[in-house]
Amino acid sequence: PVPGALQPGVARVGKYLMLDLLGEGAFGKVRQAVDESSGKQYAMKIMAKSHIKANELTLQVRREIAVMKAMRHPNIVNLHEVLTSTKNLYMVMDLVTGGELFDAVAEQGRLSEATTRLYFQQLVDGIHYCHTRRVFHRDLKPENLLLSGDKQTLKITDFGLSSIKAQNASSELLHTIMGSPHYIAPEIITSASEGYEGSKVDVWAAGIILFGMLAGFLPFDEVDTKALYRSIVHSPIQYPPHFSYDVIKLLRSMLQKDPNRRPSMEQVKAFAWFKVDYEPAVVPE
Ligand code: ADP
Ligand code: MG
Repeated sequence: PVPGALQPGVARVGKYLMLDLLGEGAFGKVRQAVDESSGKQYAMKIMAKSHIKANELTLQVRREIAVMKAMRHPNIVNLHEVLTSTKNLYMVMDLVTGGELFDAVAEQGRLSEATTRLYFQQLVDGIHYCHTRRVFHRDLKPENLLLSGDKQTLKITDFGLSSIKAQNASSELLHTIMGSPHYIAPEIITSASEGYEGSKVDVWAAGIILFGMLAGFLPFDEVDTKALYRSIVHSPIQYPPHFSYDVIKLLRSMLQKDPNRRPSMEQVKAFAWFKVDYEPAVVPE
C-alpha cells in the first residue's frame, strides 16, 4: 500500500491521487496520477527503495533523475518532480496516452512508409538532442517509445539505462553490457571488455526500430539468445521487397556492423529518405 492512503483503494502521494496502472518495466510500476488542485494528469513511476539496495544503484537512480529533469524536448518524456517516502521513490512525468509504439506496430502488422518516417524523424530528433548533451539512451526499443493520444507525436521514455559522459572523462567508451537482446549492437556482443561508443549503439537500435516499423518483424530474430547474438554479429540483413531504395540506403548505413562506419544522428538527418516532409522539432527555451 502507498503511504498516505486515506481509504482502501484510494492512495495519495503528496498532492497526487493515484489512478490506474499504466505499465510495468524493469525498474517498477507506472501509474496514472492526478494533481487534484489543478486537475492535471501525470504518469507516476514508482520504484521500491528495497529494490535499490546497493549504493551503485542509488547512484543510477539519481543519474536517471538528473538526466530526465535536464531534458526539455517535445520528443522526450518530461520529468516534473521526484517524491520519496520511506519505501518508495516516485517520479512524476508527462502522461502520454497513446500507448507504446510497439502496440501500434503490432496492431497494424506494420506501419506505412509515411507513418514510419514521421515517427523516425521524431525519434532521431529526440535522440540527437540527447547526444548533443552527451546523454545516451542505450535501451532504445519500441516499448520505451510512447505515442501521444492523437498518435502524432512520439515520446522517448525510460532513461534508466542512460548515462551522462563526464566532460572530463578520460574514456570515450562505456563499459557495461546493457539493453534488450534484439536491439543490441554487434560491438556490445563482441567487444564488451573494450567498451563501446554510446551514440553509435543508439544509431544501431534506431535502425533496428526503423526496420521493425516498416517490416512488422525484426531483422535479427532467433529464439535462442546465443543464436540471436551470432546473427547480429555475422548475418547480413535481408530487406523486404516493399522497402524503398532510399530507406534501404539509410538502413544499410545505420546497420553497419562496424560502429566507426555508422553515421552519427546528425548524419542520419542528411539522408534523402529522412529529409522528406521533415519539420524539425521546436525546442522550448
Ligand atoms: P522501466 O524503467 O521499469 O522499464 P518505463 O519507464 O519503461 O519503466 O515504464 C514502463 C512502462 O510504463 C512503459 O513501457 C509504458 O507502457 C508505461 N509508461 C512509462 N512512462 C509512461 C508515461 N509517461 N505515460 C504513460 N505510460 C508510461
Ligand atoms: Mg522500460
